Amino acid sequence: MAESATPLRTAMKTIIEPFRIKSVEPIRMTTRAEREAAVAKAGFNLFGLASRDVVIDLLTDSGTGAMSSEQWAAIMRGDESYAGAPSFARFEAAVRETTGLPHVIPTHQGRAAEHLLFPAVAQPGQIVPNNTHFDTTRANIELAGAIARDLPCAASRDMQSLAPFKGDVDLSALERCLDEHRGDVPLVMVTITNNAGGGQPVSLANLRGVRALCDRFEVPLFLDACRFAETAYLVQQRERGERGRTIAAIARSMFDLADGCTMSAKKDGLANIGGFVACRDSELADELRTRLVVTEGFPTYGGLAGRDLDAIAQGLREVVEQDYQEYRHASIRYVVERLADRGVPVLLPAGGHAIFLDAERFLPHLGWREYPGQALAIELYVSGGLRACEIGSVMLGRIDAKTGEELRASHELVRLAIPRRTYTQSHMDYVIEVVEEVWNRRGAIPGVRIVEAPRVLRHFRARFARLPAAKAGTKPASAKKAKKPAAGRAKGRA
Ligand SMILES: *Cc1c(COP(=O)(O)O)cnc(C)c1O
Repeated sequence: MAESATPLRTAMKTIIEPFRIKSVEPIRMTTRAEREAAVAKAGFNLFGLASRDVVIDLLTDSGTGAMSSEQWAAIMRGDESYAGAPSFARFEAAVRETTGLPHVIPTHQGRAAEHLLFPAVAQPGQIVPNNTHFDTTRANIELAGAIARDLPCAASRDMQSLAPFKGDVDLSALERCLDEHRGDVPLVMVTITNNAGGGQPVSLANLRGVRALCDRFEVPLFLDACRFAETAYLVQQRERGERGRTIAAIARSMFDLADGCTMSAKKDGLANIGGFVACRDSELADELRTRLVVTEGFPTYGGLAGRDLDAIAQGLREVVEQDYQEYRHASIRYVVERLADRGVPVLLPAGGHAIFLDAERFLPHLGWREYPGQALAIELYVSGGLRACEIGSVMLGRIDAKTGEELRASHELVRLAIPRRTYTQSHMDYVIEVVEEVWNRRGAIPGVRIVEAPRVLRHFRARFARLPAAKAGTKPASAKKAKKPAAGRAKGRA
């Protein structure tokens, strides 16, 4: 094994945070009564909470990470000239070094990159295949009148399968799609890691397969590269023959297969804001720059401050450091393994940026119309001030246009997204304890109903009410067993 890939070079078993803390942001401790009041006031919607009422905030890993001292130094180096700032030259150099893509177009975040790209390349009615489209990607494709098609591999549907690359594209489905829609696929997209599919990685072998199909059908390949470094780390750890290579080299191999990418720097840019499109085709780049001036800004800043460009340039170099990725994945794996050991239903194997709880199996006494994911997220908050995100029928449920009937999502998940370099091991121990506390009283957790909801993206602003608490007869079997002797003993006291 090459030195570069040796887990923690001190050869100790404990994987520590590979940083010291220079600046701290206090966390306000709250009581259970305070949290009960706060969540009721927010209509039982965690998006409605003030962040000062949250103890550990795992709502998203997007733009919520901590910057390094070198990034803060870069912030001071930022040049705010309207045109031709050296900050842009440094940003462009870092993106080229990471991706090898010659044309670099800055945007204020990932969805702005998508909003720039799709109207330029996609015609109404055309098909854009992807392993799984992220929601903003899908929305921007649909806004351009095109159709977003998800083609995830079969293993992605089995939450307990330990398959190493559950983010892979289903290559035979892609081949059929490209064959059926010849001339009507403006590009193929692959999301690394597959965020909507549980943060699962895509193998280099799968990407090579996608590339071969793109060559055969003469269609460009773009990466949704938001978590390219986390993917590269998982490839290094899981794919045969990749152990001895650096994360940067593996990432470069992925980009070498692509014609371009969209990126949110709020993820693996290790920055709080920013994004970009990069590509090989100079004509496309020209077209994108023309549109950029109208929607985002001049091509050397694209909706960002010079200081943001410098922070991203530095972040792109830090995100491929071996020690950083070892620590990040170790802390996610740590939580997933401990929860799985206790029988808590979690998505396996551990993905790149989050822990996913399977709310359907966590709260089997609730039907989907009682929104088990939302019910579980509320309990995690009340129990320990943990803010997580429902990814189930509240977020992804659809109203059938014809019948007006509500259609459920394919899974009822709760995502605990881990901000980068922000929380320590003891915070993760606390997260495990909170989940366990809720797990131990799962049989009594009530469902929720929607009181009011906006027509689109309802999860952000919907208000809920708790249903009456579950009856004893509907408790899961194991909870009943555990309760019985306790109830017997309690008799005397009652
Ligand atoms: C976050 C994300 C985006 C959108 O990026 P924003 O910076 O939030 O606009 C696109 N694709 C994936 C896979 C993402 O995770």
